[in-house]
Amino acid sequence: MAKMFYDKDCDQNLLKGKTVSIIGYGSQGHAHALNLKDSGVNVVVGLRGSSENCEKAKKAGLTVMEVSDAVAAGDLVMLLVPDELAADVYKASVAPNLKSDAMLLFAHGFNIHYNQIVPAPNCDVAMVAPKGPGHTVRSQYLEGRGVPSLFAVYQNHSGMARELAMAYAAGIGAGRAGIMETTFKEETETDLFGEQAVLCGGVTELMKAGFDTLVEAGYSPEMAYFECVHEMKLIVDLINSGGFAMMRYSISDTAEFGDYCTGKRIVTQETRKEMKKVLHEIQDGTFASKWISENRAAGRAHFLATRRMEAEHPVEKVGAQLRKMMSWLKK
Ligand code: NAD
Ligand code: MG
Ligand code: MG
Ligand code: MG
Ligand code: MG
Ligand code: MG
Repeated sequence: MAKMFYDKDCDQNLLKGKTVSIIGYGSQGHAHALNLKDSGVNVVVGLRGSSENCEKAKKAGLTVMEVSDAVAAGDLVMLLVPDELAADVYKASVAPNLKSDAMLLFAHGFNIHYNQIVPAPNCDVAMVAPKGPGHTVRSQYLEGRGVPSLFAVYQNHSGMARELAMAYAAGIGAGRAGIMETTFKEETETDLFGEQAVLCGGVTELMKAGFDTLVEAGYSPEMAYFECVHEMKLIVDLINSGGFAMMRYSISDTAEFGDYCTGKRIVTQETRKEMKKVLHEIQDGTFASKWISENRAAGRAHFLATRRMEAEHPVEKVGAQLRKMMSWLKK
């Protein structure tokens, strides 16, 4: 078992007298800034003056500065801008202003692992990555709980990088739930693999394939949506709280028998072979390089066209209709 660390293993006093600069105020940024502030840490938020988030952050009682000023003020600087913009923000505003001996922090390893950001040797570089959406990081903290998080050290200039990263993780509430040590390589590659093969790419294609199969066979799109999309959450919630066994306990024996007969016919040896290929392309930088060129050279042409085409799929149309009828679903 990987070792878990909790509040008692972290020394939050290490952040006393230090300034933590949070660059960006989106999903993760707002959660880190507000949780740290509520944990008694001196926080400043770095944003472009033009950003509409400035007002939001100020209203929440935070000190807001231009990115370069916030970086200059920070003993710890957490970069929470979109991954595809981070290298530009780093070159323009972080590198020229980062104090020597400061700690540069990330919530995902992509830019360090794939060499898009090459930090100076005179700083600490670490990661604190909550394993959940930013809005959950905030809401759990407010309820006295936390979201489990990973931490990793890439560069330990001060000799205290590990302890500082753990203190930061505790400051955002992760020490209440569990903090696990990893490396930039492991976090980046497993994160990319999980979202591509299973959580996002895998799940949406599986749902669409099931939906299309039923609709093409003449069943109503509403029935197809309920069976292949809507019920996924109900099943996953059971797995999330009690594993496959609890899910199978809750479903009928007929469903359980069908599960055993059919699952392996859908996720075949061929699928597993392809998963290995996907992982290999993550490991050897093929995917990273594709994503970087998509942003830099192609101006997101393929990404945005695909987003539009996906929104036009019948599963999205019927889903929107049905969700309107389900008044109990939270917005
Ligand atoms: P986001 O898109 O929600 O927010 C990005 C923020 O950066 C916004 O406040 C935006 O105004 C600001 N920004 C954009 N360009 C900027 C610039 N040039 N200068 C200054 N600020 C700029 O991003 P996010 O989803 O919170 O992701 C931030 C980091 O957290 C990424 O590394 C991501 O991989 C990681 N992460 C995100 C989640 C998540 O829940 N979304 C989970 C784990 C890790
Ligand atoms: Mg998004
Ligand atoms: Mg992930
Ligand atoms: Mg990810
Ligand atoms: Mg059913
Ligand atoms: Mg059962």
